[in-house]
This record gives sequence, C-alpha cells and structure tokens, in this order.
Amino acid sequence: MSIVILRQDDKIDEWKKALKARAPHINVYSYLEEHPKDDMTMALVWKHPKNTLSRYPNLKCISCSGAGVDFIFNDRDRPKHLPITRVVDPYLASDMSEYVLAAIFSHIKNLNHYKLEQTQAKWSPKSYLRIQDVSVGIMGVGELGKTLAKDLVQYGFKTLGWSNSKKRINGVNSFVGEAELSLFLEQTAILVCLLPLTNKTKGILNKTLFTLLPKGAFVINVARGGHMVDDDLMEMLDKDHLSGAVLDVFHNEPLPTSHLYWQHPKVHITPHIASVSDTASVVPQIVENYERLMSGQPLLNEVSITKGY
Ligand code: NAP
Repeated sequence: MSIVILRQDDKIDEWKKALKARAPHINVYSYLEEHPKDDMTMALVWKHPKNTLSRYPNLKCISCSGAGVDFIFNDRDRPKHLPITRVVDPYLASDMSEYVLAAIFSHIKNLNHYKLEQTQAKWSPKSYLRIQDVSVGIMGVGELGKTLAKDLVQYGFKTLGWSNSKKRINGVNSFVGEAELSLFLEQTAILVCLLPLTNKTKGILNKTLFTLLPKGAFVINVARGGHMVDDDLMEMLDKDHLSGAVLDVFHNEPLPTSHLYWQHPKVHITPHIASVSDTASVVPQIVENYERLMSGQPLLNEVSITKGY
C-alpha cells in the first residue's frame, strides 16, 4: 500500500519529503526509482509522463497535485475506472486572486503602458480608470473564481460571473450557460478566464467571443492555453478591438521563443506562475484521501468523470 509520484519537473523530492513528514507510515516512491509496481495504491500526478499509469495493476486512485485535471483526461493510457481527485486549497485560491488583482490594477492604472514608454524615455500621461467604473467578468466561478469574485466585490468592482450553474455570491451578477454568455460578455470590460479545460471550453476564447466584448476590453487568461485561439487574440488586439491581454498559460509551455506573444506590445506574459500548489498546505488533503482510500470512505475533491472537471 504505497503512493507513487509521477511528474516530469524537479519537484518529486519536495513532494516526497512533505508526504513523509506528514505521514511517515506511508511508503512514498518516485516513479524514477526502484519500486514494487503492484504495491502502488495511489498515483500522485502532475503532467506525468505518457504510458506510466497503466504500469500499476492495483492502483485505486489518481490524485492530481494541482487544481486542473485536463492533462489526466488527455492521457489515453489512463485506467478509466479509477477515481480522480484534485486539489482544493485556500492558498491556491488566494494566490490566484492576488495575481488577477495585480493584472487588473496594472491595466486600469496603465502601468504596462508606462513601462513601455520608459524604454523610450517618453513622458506621456494617460487617463486612468477608477474601480467603481470597471466591470470584471469571470468565466468559471468555481473554487478559484469565487474567491476572486468575492475579492473584486470587496474592492468595489462591478463583478459578473459565468458558469454552468447559478451562483449566489453577494454583489456578483451570475450568468449561466451558453444562453446567457453574450449578455455576460457585453457588460464585461475585463474578462478573466478561470474555466477548466474540457471538450466544451477548448478554444472558447476566440474571435466570436471577443467580438461580443465591448471595444477596448482587456483579457486575462489564467486557466489553460487550450482555451485561447492565439491568432484570434492577436487579430483582435491588432485591430484595437481589445486593449491588451495578460496571459499566464499557453498551448505549449515553456512558450516557444519564436512565438509572436513574446514581442507583442499589448501582451503581457508570465510563465504559468499565477497560483502554484503549496506542498505544506496541500499534503494533508492528499494524506487524508489516502487514508480514506484505505478505509473505503468517500474521497475528498473528487472530479466528475462525465463533466471532465
Ligand atoms: P472548478 O472549481 O472546477 O471551477 C470551474 C468553474 O467553471 C465552475 O464554476 C464551473 O461551473 C465552470 N464551468 C466549467 N465548464 C463550464 C462551461 N462549459 N460553461 C460554463 N461554465 C463552466 O475549478 P477551479 O479550481 O476554480 O480551477 C479552474 C481552472 O484554473 C483549473 O481547471 C486550471 O485549469 C486553472 N488553474 C490555473 C492555475 C495557474 O497557475 N495559471 C493554477 C490553478 C488552476 P459550475 O460551478 O456550474 O460547475
């Protein structure tokens, strides 16, 4: 009865240490070391290498060490009968909210514009926006989106949310499904994407959607690169329909050096750092799920296999 960690970055040891510190009685292995394959009960994964999950005949659960599980659904080799859990964590939500707030404040006070002007020693004052006059629309009002929505309301932004089901959050105007998407978009000056990447949301940030936003709208994508149609975004920026974009996530990561985003004056990119799982904060729920697995209790934060998130 053990946990195997499958990921391709340099964080395997960090997770292993954190798990051992919290639960010394659980055997934890890196998939890279010698380990008894038939003893693995839980696979703790993050962008795991292909064709690895099927090596474990007695696996009972796939535990994602982050919030987004799209990479697991995209793994054709994944044993389909296994439950999938993901991370729901207050730091993941507050870190995301802080990042998006930073992007919004930078936009409404033109900080990116002045940074560019500075490189040319240009002194060019520009009018700025006030919080009370700015509407922010969040696509995806889940664990991360709802924390952001509450923070935006607290600051005094007009706050709108779009999701599959109706949300009742003080001060947030909730829109539901495709039928209310255009109504949501036409009132949104800053669009934040916090949707999971599923068959239904892939490529949702496209020309048709951008056209429904008011002229001068600003786009923040902190969800997944697969939501964005890159050429459509650049076309709408170049036509001045959109005033700018902050992008933390990309189709291919690291973003290839040849990508046009790197040089685009209206695009501000960051290397997928908006919100990163904090091992100390997240490990207790992984251990709790392992214990639940052992005692046959329902798992925490289980993903819906049918919905894909
Ligand atoms: P979540 O709790 O599952 O929330 C997803 C939200 O999207 C829900 O409100 C859901 O509606 C809505 N939704 C899903 N499909 C929809 C559709 N077709 N139409 C309308 N609404 C739809 O997810 P989360 O924990 O907030 O995380 C969101 C995403 O953030 C993750 O999947 C991940 O890709 C991304 N993320 C990025 C970073 C980063 O560093 N950039 C870090 C963490 C997470 P219902 O509430 O009605 O179900």
